[in-house]
Amino acid sequence: MLIETFIRKQLKLKAHRVIRVEQTGEMLLVEIDPIAGRHLRCGVCGLPGRRVHSLQSERDWQDLTMRGVTMVLRYRPRRVCCRKCGVHVEAFPWAEPWARVTRALAGAVAVMARSQSWQETARVYRLNWKSVASVVRRAVEYGLAARNRRPLHHLGIDEVSRKKGHQYLTVVYDLERRVLVWVGPDRTEQTLQKFFTGLGRRRCASVRIVCMDMWAAYAKAVRQQLPKAQILFDRFHVVQHLNRALDEVRRAEMRRLSRRERVHFKRCRYLLLKNPWNLSNSEKDRLSTLVRWNSPLIRAYYLKEAFQMFWDMQPPASAEAHLRKWMQTARRTRLKPFKAFVQLLESYLPGILAWTSLRLSNGALEGMNNKIKLVSHRGFGFRNAANFITAIYHCCAKLPLPAWK
Ligand SMILES: [Zn+2]
Repeated sequence: MLIETFIRKQLKLKAHRVIRVEQTGEMLLVEIDPIAGRHLRCGVCGLPGRRVHSLQSERDWQDLTMRGVTMVLRYRPRRVCCRKCGVHVEAFPWAEPWARVTRALAGAVAVMARSQSWQETARVYRLNWKSVASVVRRAVEYGLAARNRRPLHHLGIDEVSRKKGHQYLTVVYDLERRVLVWVGPDRTEQTLQKFFTGLGRRRCASVRIVCMDMWAAYAKAVRQQLPKAQILFDRFHVVQHLNRALDEVRRAEMRRLSRRERVHFKRCRYLLLKNPWNLSNSEKDRLSTLVRWNSPLIRAYYLKEAFQMFWDMQPPASAEAHLRKWMQTARRTRLKPFKAFVQLLESYLPGILAWTSLRLSNGALEGMNNKIKLVSHRGFGFRNAANFITAIYHCCAKLPLPAWK
C-alpha cells in the first residue's frame, strides 16, 4: 500500500486525497487536495456545498508524532456555497474548524492534560503552551455542554485561594454525587449570583441544603436566590474559626511570658489543637505543665474541648442547649478571641444549629479541594484566572471528553 493511500484511509478522507508526502528532518509533510467532482461540506451545517466559492491561503495542521517524526497536513481550505447558510469555509474531515491540530492530536492532548501540566503536555506533543490551552478550553466547553444535568439537592460551596491568598475562586459541588459543578472567579456575592443565574430558576428550586463557610457574601446570595434552601455552616470551617481563637490566646500569652518560661511554650500549638485522645504520654505531660502555668490558656483550651462536644450530641435539642450554654460561658471568660467567636456564632446561629438535624458537612470535599491545589501547584503557567478555572474543570469535574479521533 502506498503511504498516500495509508494516510488517506487513516484520516478517513472522502472528498480529499493526498497528493504528496515528503519527509524533511523530523517532519512528515502531507499535502492534501480536493478530489474533483466530490462535494465539499459546509463548515457550519455539514451539508454538501453546491460549489466552491473561493480558495483561502495555505494552512498547516499538526498531527501525532510517530517514531520522532511529526506528521503535518498542508491544505488550502475552500469556501463553499451552502444552500442553507451561504458562503463558508468547508468542514475538514481531519480537524475541528477552530483547530490548528488534527482531531487525533487534540484528543491525545486533552487526555494527557488531565493528569499532566500544560507545559509537560506541550513538550511531549511538540506544541506550544497556547495550543494546549486552546485544546483544553474546547474540551471543557464541550464537556460542560454535554454533561449530565441531574437535579441538584445538596450544594457545597467553598473557596480556593491562588497566588498565596491574593486571589480567590469559588467552587460549587454537588454534595450528593461528590462532583464539582461550577468554578468562578472571586468570592463575592456576585460570584454566586452568576452561578445561580446560569443554573436557572427551575434547577435552583430543587436545591434543599447549602453547606458553606460563615461568609456573609455567600450567605446573602443564597438567601436571595434560594429562599427555600436551608443554609448549613460547614463543621470544619466552624472548627477552623474556633482553633484560630485558641491560637490567638496562646500567642497573646507568649508575648506576656518571660524568656525562661517561654521555652515550655515553644511549639505547643499542636498540643492544644490536637484531639486529646491522640496525644502521647510525653505530650500529655507537656500539656499539663503548660496549663498549670497559664490560666487564660487553660480556660481557652477547655473551652475548645467543650465546644467540640456539640457535634456528637444527641438529640438536637440537647445539642442546642449545650451550644447556648457554651456561648454564655465563653462570653464570661474575658478572652477576647473567644468573645469574637461567640459573636460570629450568634450572627450565624440558625445555620450552625442546622447541623444537629442534617449532619452534613463539606468534609467529603476535602479530597477534591486537594486535587484543585495539586492543579494549582502544577500550573505555574496559568497567567490568569480563566486558564486556572479551565484546568480545574478539566481535571476535577469529571466532564465527558469529546470523541476526537
Ligand atoms: Zn451550511
